[in-house]
Amino acid sequence: MRRAPTILHLDMDAFYASVEQASKPSLRGKPVVVGGLGPRGVVATASYEARRFGVHSAMPMAQARRLAPHAAYLVPRFQFYRAISGQVMELLGRLSPLVEPLSLDEAFVDLEAGGTAFDAAAARTTGERLRADIRAVTGLSGSVGLAGSKMLAKIGSEGAKPDGLLLIEPGTERDLLGPMPVRTLPGVGPATGDHLRRAGMTTVAHLAQAGEDELVRLVGRAHGLSLYRMALGLDDRPVVSDRDAKSVSVEDTFDVDLHDRVRVRAEVDRLADRCVQRLREAGRSGRTVVLKVRRYDFSTLTRSETLRGPTDDGAVVREAAGRLLDAVDTTGGVRLLGVGVTGLADYTQEDLFAQSGTGAVTEAVVQDEPSAAPEPPPDAPPPDTPPPDTAGAAPRRYPAGHDVRHASFGAGWVQGSGARRVTVRFEQPGSAVGRVRTFWLDDPDLESSDPLPLIPGD
Ligand SMILES: [Mg+2]
Repeated sequence: MRRAPTILHLDMDAFYASVEQASKPSLRGKPVVVGGLGPRGVVATASYEARRFGVHSAMPMAQARRLAPHAAYLVPRFQFYRAISGQVMELLGRLSPLVEPLSLDEAFVDLEAGGTAFDAAAARTTGERLRADIRAVTGLSGSVGLAGSKMLAKIGSEGAKPDGLLLIEPGTERDLLGPMPVRTLPGVGPATGDHLRRAGMTTVAHLAQAGEDELVRLVGRAHGLSLYRMALGLDDRPVVSDRDAKSVSVEDTFDVDLHDRVRVRAEVDRLADRCVQRLREAGRSGRTVVLKVRRYDFSTLTRSETLRGPTDDGAVVREAAGRLLDAVDTTGGVRLLGVGVTGLADYTQEDLFAQSGTGAVTEAVVQDEPSAAPEPPPDAPPPDTPPPDTAGAAPRRYPAGHDVRHASFGAGWVQGSGARRVTVRFEQPGSAVGRVRTFWLDDPDLESSDPLPLIPGD
């Protein structure tokens, strides 16, 4: 813990949705939901306007559509988001060599290590300048938290949202945290939260009052100790720029060999949960789940399963570890069990899609439902030219929200498609709200194109 609030946490505001609103003038101030539009798709980001209807990240897309039927539903343009993220990370890199990205739009920066700020006043100036630079370079807003620890810097940026800065003076942590819900603390998920609530603890102050022993009794030793420290505002995890760690794993040796298959399975589940907790604390996700089993005769087996994409979802890791266990003979007894995740990736938010099922991003984008647009296109009669003769050609696909160019009308974006037609709104960053026109999917004058920069002249 340091005495000056020189750990900075930056979090871009509703990042993907804000990029879309900046790209598409007709969507400014409107509810926008970016995510997988397929049957198992989930919300990646909802604009603040959509959040007012109760839509939030990781929510199944079908539920979002029920809550906000008139929102614009768009397929993510990851390459574009990644390019903008690169510009933001570039700005962070000027502040310090110690930048720890948690996702495309979120990172910790150690200002002291960069010689940028050593006290509260300089930290605040640096944070405000950073926010202004981000706006100038990307046209987007980000929120900044400044504190003496990572945990509080992140709580700060959350409290600053949207488009703000919050500096937490070292020494004020306990008072600030006290009334907050227990879920504010890193590593307290729904299950732990419920568990604590049943024991009568709903706020961080309750945890601090309960004391270390009581927390250890309730949630186990490792978790209890760290929970108590965090409740007191104590967090000395360093900002680590070195993202080379390739795996996270946990293991337990048992005093007596385990023979009961049900008990072995329960231990594997518990280890999977601990492993996921460590993964999340590190802001990572991983693709390969590894199970380690040491048997009564000291023979050690490892088995692994590689998922379709990275995950930091406890249920996914538990299931994979369980499948691996099913293939291991444990009849003689088990002495040690371990669960690990390797093939780590930095960008957990994006990874949401990897787990959300087939084609959430790359397929299922041409839908027959017309609701990719905020309102039904007012002027979208069937195209009046006859469909071109393209017998045998595969139909082209135009994901909602993606960029297109028309030979006569210029740059636009796909507002919706289906029934062999695609509706395009012809507008671009900085333009007036554009008009909508409808074409046959295989119109030879229409083609996919690259995104235009949000700030002209980039
Ligand atoms: Mg964000």
